[in-house]
Order: sequence, then C-alpha cells, then structure tokens
Amino acid sequence: MSFLRRLFKRDSSEPKAQVTKSDHVTSSTVTCPYCDKVLDPPPKRTRKCPFCSERIVRRNDWDGKKSHISYLTEEQAQREDEKEVEQRLSSARSEAQKATVRAKKSGDSTDWVDACVAYTSFAAELAHEGRPYWEEKTLSNQADAMRYHIELPNMNTLQISASDCCDACKNFHSKKIPMSEALKGVIIPEGICTALFCNCMLLTSR
Ligand SMILES: [Zn+2]
Ligand SMILES: [Zn+2]
Repeated sequence: MSFLRRLFKRDSSEPKAQVTKSDHVTSSTVTCPYCDKVLDPPPKRTRKCPFCSERIVRRNDWDGKKSHISYLTEEQAQREDEKEVEQRLSSARSEAQKATVRAKKSGDSTDWVDACVAYTSFAAELAHEGRPYWEEKTLSNQADAMRYHIELPNMNTLQISASDCCDACKNFHSKKIPMSEALKGVIIPEGICTALFCNCMLLTSR
C-alpha cells in the first residue's frame, strides 16, 4: 500500500516538473534590446524590430556543448564580435608560446614542427584581422628552421618555397638561404609580400 502511495506521489510530482519547464519558456521570453517590447515569436534571424524598426542582431553562440541564442543591439553585437576576436587571438598566442616552450625544453624536432604550425596559424589569424603578423611569421620560420637543423645537422643550406605566395615573393622562390640565416627567421624581407598572408616557407636544399 505504501508502495502504491509512493508510486502515486511520484506520479503526482510529474506535472510539477512540467510547470518548471513552462516557467523556463516564460523566462526565455525574447524582448527587443532597444524598446524592450516582447517579440513573439522570437526572430529566427537578424531583422528589424516590428515596434521600433531598429536592427536586432540574432547571435547563436556555440560553447562546445550547446548553443546560446541572444538578441543584441548592433553596438552590443559589435562589442561581442571584438571580444570574440581578442579571445581567439589570445588563445592562439598562448598555444604558440606553450608549443615553443615545449620545443625548447625537449629539443625534439616534432615539437618544433608543432611550434611552427602554432605560430603559422597565429600569424594567419592576425593577418586575417588585418593586424601586423611579421613577428609571429618570423617565429614560425625560426621554429621551422630549428626543426631542419635538428633533423639534418649536416645541412648548411635551406631554400625558400614561395610558389604559393604573391608575385613579389615568387622572385624568392628556390633561393638558397644559409642555415644560420634561416635560424634568424626572416626568409623574405619584411614589406615585400603583397598577399594578405605570406605563405612562403623553408624547404631542404639539395
Ligand atoms: Zn524594438
Ligand atoms: Zn607573398
């Protein structure tokens, strides 16, 4: 009997859970970020508010587990975008720095390859944001040269591969470069490349 009562109790608690659920729906009522009027149904994409005609930006942010939808003013959306860029760049920077620390510690050529890749992608992200990236590109070249230096200790010369870059860089294609120079990281003089991002890299030389 008491078992049945418990069972019944459990049953009767179910509508409660549903109430909570509908509460949740109420709490997620969408309002215009400008005029605060309720938007029902919530806009499925960025569009003008039917009440105040301001442009409401709909953002869908994925945190790795679930998406977060927000409705922002254009100014708020721009600030969010800028914050996102800063976060991405700072995590790319710290990845590259960590990879370099690891490589210096281990002296392992595969760790130098990782450092090269990490600095190349950090430099490419900076370039994509229209920021200076030459210093980071230089660090990626240095890491690449280190890797060759460790793998091929008798190799005194490397060569530049510039076939994937701009016309200005193509003049440097196949140019031989002493290992001691390559280890300093500058393989193409700064300011020469006219591409958004300089794709030139080092190859072994025969
Ligand atoms: Zn509005
Ligand atoms: Zn170039």
